[in-house]
Amino acid sequence: MATEDGAAAAEHLDVLIVGAGLSGIGAAHHLQRRLPGRSYAILEARGAIGGTWDLFRYPGIRSDSDMHTLGYRFRPWTEAKSIADGPSILRYIEDTAREEGIESRVRFHHRVLAAEWSSERARWTVRAERTESGETVTLTCGFLFLCSGYYSYEEPYTPEFAGLERFGGRVVHPQHWPDDLDYGGKRVVVIGSGATAVTLVPAMAERAAKVTMLQRSPTYMISVPGEDPLARGLRRVLPDRIVYPVVRWKNVAIQSLFYRAAQRWPRRVRKLLRRGALRHLPPDYDVDTHFNPRYDPWDQRLCAVPDADLFKALSEGSAEIVTDRVDAFTESGIRLESGAELEADVVVTATGFNLLFLGGAQLSVDGEPVDVSKAMVYRGALLEGVPNMAFTMGYTNASWTLKADLVAEYVCRLLAHMEEGGCDTCAARLADPTVTEEPLLDFSSGYVLRSLDSIPKQGSKEPWKLRQNYPLDLRSLRHGPLEDGAMRFERHRAAPAPVPDPAREQAPA
Ligand SMILES: Cc1cc2nc3c(=O)[nH]c(=O)nc-3n(C[C@H](O)[C@H](O)[C@H](O)COP(=O)(O)OP(=O)(O)OC[C@H]3O[C@@H](n4cnc5c(N)ncnc54)[C@H](O)[C@@H]3O)c2cc1C
Repeated sequence: MATEDGAAAAEHLDVLIVGAGLSGIGAAHHLQRRLPGRSYAILEARGAIGGTWDLFRYPGIRSDSDMHTLGYRFRPWTEAKSIADGPSILRYIEDTAREEGIESRVRFHHRVLAAEWSSERARWTVRAERTESGETVTLTCGFLFLCSGYYSYEEPYTPEFAGLERFGGRVVHPQHWPDDLDYGGKRVVVIGSGATAVTLVPAMAERAAKVTMLQRSPTYMISVPGEDPLARGLRRVLPDRIVYPVVRWKNVAIQSLFYRAAQRWPRRVRKLLRRGALRHLPPDYDVDTHFNPRYDPWDQRLCAVPDADLFKALSEGSAEIVTDRVDAFTESGIRLESGAELEADVVVTATGFNLLFLGGAQLSVDGEPVDVSKAMVYRGALLEGVPNMAFTMGYTNASWTLKADLVAEYVCRLLAHMEEGGCDTCAARLADPTVTEEPLLDFSSGYVLRSLDSIPKQGSKEPWKLRQNYPLDLRSLRHGPLEDGAMRFERHRAAPAPVPDPAREQAPA
């Protein structure tokens, strides 16, 4: 079929969700529950549901926040473990998608490359590549909802290491874990000190001859119970649908208070964390070298250590921490800047991600490319001047899904409000000259600092300020007014011509 402009008619959907991870599946749930009449599809670049929880396959893969807040608000987490393993989280997402009929809406192997907004037509034209054939598919949609995560799936971050080609052992990155890697009885060095390294070290120590965690600088770590004691107790007498929100709010409150205490009294919280580490380690352990970061607590994400597993591996001697820098790889291991050498058969580079905003999709509005690095975020979910588009970016100081659920609910509110008002376009416009630009994230983690120039900015005031605060976001995104002076609702497409009423036309004058 040909359109007015001669182009072949593309399939049109009310909403197009990009990404079938935790956020995309959650977004689909909210959409079909709140606005059951809307047509939608999910475009997913990979061949599976689950995103992060399907991609990462390294030993011990698990969450580092509790599943009562990493789980969806609408679906209780019913397993005993609160800090859950990757396969259980993947199963939870897959079960949600299957039981709610979302699975059939996912179009796998479709990588979104670009989306062009036309104000005149009030719709996005989205170009996607079918990753199996290289063929390009074009769709149009009224609203584009990007749930594409925050990092590049293709290229993890690995610093340049001198002499890497000399090394006779195997080097692997946790993002691309090889199925055939047998590290049983081998000497393993894990480079890194983030959540991935902290997960890998005790898990690999169970089978390896020895695991060394080589960190350039220490990270704050806190031992947390793998199973939530309150959830365990309440489940004996109450159903999950009651226990889940109670434990969820308890965890939101504890995390939020702890974060605020760290901001307010960093020295006291630092002492508290140091004491926690001391309690789990042998008396002569050098806590001040290996567990005493240069930055204040929560300037970078705090690492959870479920049931003190890392501390146990260190105490037993199956794992060790070395705080030093890589000078160069040698034939048999790594030479450190201190001059010491680490012998290794396997080196795991748990050195992090490359941040990727909007899944790498290129956006344009009425022919003008959108430079996301210059755009300002609105309510942490939309971009200034980009109509009918939202993205999901979770919290850095709490579980991702707390925010993902709220953003999806907010998008549904926007869509319903447009329909009620007879509008087809909504866009946030910055009209307040007193709002100044600030970096989007005030985290000092490497992956954030490396990418600050390529990601949007936040504003100094509401609603342009990114609040890493669930209770405040809940009030504003779930209950706050949609018409706030910055969000504009308009109608661009001509209203459809009224359908002639035959009865009226035939009626005698
Ligand atoms: C190892 C690891 C552990 C983590 N643990 C926690 C934790 O304990 N707590 C926490 O809060 N957060 C954690 N995170 C952050 C985590 O990514 C989020 O919690 C959550 O899984 C993100 O879900 P998502 O659906 O938004 O993104 P993702 O899981 O990244 O899924 C995005 C999906 O979008 C698809 N996609 C991307 N770009 C495109 C495109 N252009 N076209 C089509 N499809 C596209 C991807 O293929 C993927 O399937 C962890 C992250 C990692 C890497």
